[in-house]
Amino acid sequence: MQGLEMHLYCCEDCNVLFGVETAFEDQSVIVCPVCQSDENLLDGGTGSVEITRQPGVWDE
Ligand SMILES: [Zn+2]
Repeated sequence: MQGLEMHLYCCEDCNVLFGVETAFEDQSVIVCPVCQSDENLLDGGTGSVEITRQPGVWDE
C-alpha cells in the first residue's frame, strides 16, 4: 500500500480524526462522520496517510 494524500479533519466534540481524499473537490461540505456536524471540526490541512487496510478487506 502506498501513501494517500488526504485532507485531515478532527472533530473536537467526538474526538474523532478522519481524512478525505484531496481528489474529493468540495471540501466545504465535509461533516463529522459521527455527529454529522461541521461545528466542531478542526481543519488539519493535507497530509499523507498510509493505508494499511481497507474496509471490507480482511487478512486471510
Ligand atoms: Zn463530531
